[in-house]
Amino acid sequence: MLKLRKYIKPFQFTICLVLGLVLLQSLSELYLPTLMSDIVDKGVITGDTHFIWKIGGYMLLVAAGGMICSIAASFFSAKAASGFGRLLRSKIFSHVSNFSLSEFDKLGTASLITRTTNDITQIQQVMIMMLRMMAFAPMMCIGGIIMAYSKDAKLTLVLAVAIPILIVAIVVIARKGIPLFKAMQVKLDKLNRVLRENLTGIRVIRSFNRVGHEKKRFDEANWDLTQTAIRVNKIMAAMMPIMMVVLNLTTVAIIWFGGHRISNGNMEVGDMMAFIQYAMQIMFSFIMLSMMFVMIPRASVSAVRLNEVLETVADIKDPTTPASLEERKGHVEFRDVTFSYPGAEMPAISNISFSMNPGEVTAIIGGTGSGKSTLINLIPRFYDVDSGQVIVDGVDVRDMTQEQLRQKVGFVPQQAILFTGTIAENIRYGKEDATDKELEHAAEIAQATEFITSMPDGFQSTIAQGGTNVSGGQKQRLSIARALVRKPEIYIFDDSFSALDFKTDAKLRAALKRETLDSTVLIVAQRVSTIMDADQIIVLDDGKIAGIGTHKELLDSSSVYREIVMSQLSEEEIA
Ligand code: ADP
Ligand code: MG
Repeated sequence: MLKLRKYIKPFQFTICLVLGLVLLQSLSELYLPTLMSDIVDKGVITGDTHFIWKIGGYMLLVAAGGMICSIAASFFSAKAASGFGRLLRSKIFSHVSNFSLSEFDKLGTASLITRTTNDITQIQQVMIMMLRMMAFAPMMCIGGIIMAYSKDAKLTLVLAVAIPILIVAIVVIARKGIPLFKAMQVKLDKLNRVLRENLTGIRVIRSFNRVGHEKKRFDEANWDLTQTAIRVNKIMAAMMPIMMVVLNLTTVAIIWFGGHRISNGNMEVGDMMAFIQYAMQIMFSFIMLSMMFVMIPRASVSAVRLNEVLETVADIKDPTTPASLEERKGHVEFRDVTFSYPGAEMPAISNISFSMNPGEVTAIIGGTGSGKSTLINLIPRFYDVDSGQVIVDGVDVRDMTQEQLRQKVGFVPQQAILFTGTIAENIRYGKEDATDKELEHAAEIAQATEFITSMPDGFQSTIAQGGTNVSGGQKQRLSIARALVRKPEIYIFDDSFSALDFKTDAKLRAALKRETLDSTVLIVAQRVSTIMDADQIIVLDDGKIAGIGTHKELLDSSSVYREIVMSQLSEEEIA
């Protein structure tokens, strides 16, 4: 909670304003019972109508003033809290944007979403409560005790008994409730995770007839959350009646003892009425304080979760003095690179050394899980190596800024991702100021022109959320076009032709070859036919290089490569 304090700074003024308004409100509330007792004792009993009117009018004024303060305090506290929420959300968002992929792996996407939305809302709500009550409750408590004491010192003994009882009740309830609030936030995370997996995996779930199973999983998470919420609410619901019993018994006691004092002539009727009101105010202030003590742990759970995000520093940071790079080239070198995912026992790739030059095509082939995607993720520095070096244009990737580095790279990931928007916008993701000509050219090479022009609005056709209205192959071609429009020095294709038919694949590669004559090209592929004519082929097996060379050389030297080839090509194709 304290660590988030620095984000409250911009709202200091508003907060002070709220506190001031609340103070005024509490003063007016404390003053009203005294005025009322004056009316009863000095006006009603003596029959002085003029006095009643005068003080009554005065009471109305004081009450109206208190109300205005209260309304204004509500307004400004809401303003401060929502401003604080907005600031916090944008801080989290920009912080998370700097995360490298390993931080996303660590915190989890679903949890990051809950934290940015629900946890911040939680804090926001508590902040509103706090602002209203933080000043109000202590004021009413202390002021109430002073006023009650000034009305009748002896009668305050009743409060000396009632207040400890109230405090014990509050402590018991809070101790039961607080752990449940913590549990609720975790359960909400779980619900979000299940929901997210369900929504993203809907096709798989349907096709494998797992809808029932998933429904059950969701119901379980949902039920779990509901149960906890019900328990929390039961406890909170128990709070009010218990408080009311204590409050009402206190009133009875005051009237009982006060009545005796009045008949003995030690007290006046109006004073007793005022005393009852002060007693109520004091006890309500305890209830408010207790609500605060319940809310604070709840918000602090959320605050801790937000701090976790804010304290996670991205592993991958730009160097303080980035190396100056020469003009565009595209040379890439791996020097004895070993990398393991955070928490993994074995390195995903180890002792990888090779280099790629402009004008060359390098291909990587290997079974699934052999580390192909891992290897190429190291070039745009999505992860940092454990040992060894990845060198681009003579400079270690850690010695240049991420922007410098990624400017050089056109990356086509294994999973083609498109964004909501038009096709043109999606291709322009590669280069913001690309002209229409450049777009068309990129689409042409990516063999996407045909299907784009057959769409009703051509390049202005919209891509639905998640790219659901285009096929897998179309998605791949659009994401290839997106990389092409950038005209980078280094092209990386991670299994980007897998969803294309042989004919399109061949046509695309032929066009690509012409386009990327001076560039460094790295192709990951499953099909031998895709990479057969590459300048060098790297065979990966279990994270290690099992062979490097041309197709012909590898056929002689690498048994792993021969096996892959045998399984895919016929005898005459090999020769
Ligand atoms: P390929 O692309 O060759 O199919 P990958 O590079 O994706 O293989 O994966 C290599 C190994 O690294 C696999 O054993 C996989 O389980 C592991 N791996 C891949 N991505 C992650 C990740 N984000 N976190 C932990 N392990 C991973
Ligand atoms: Mg892969």
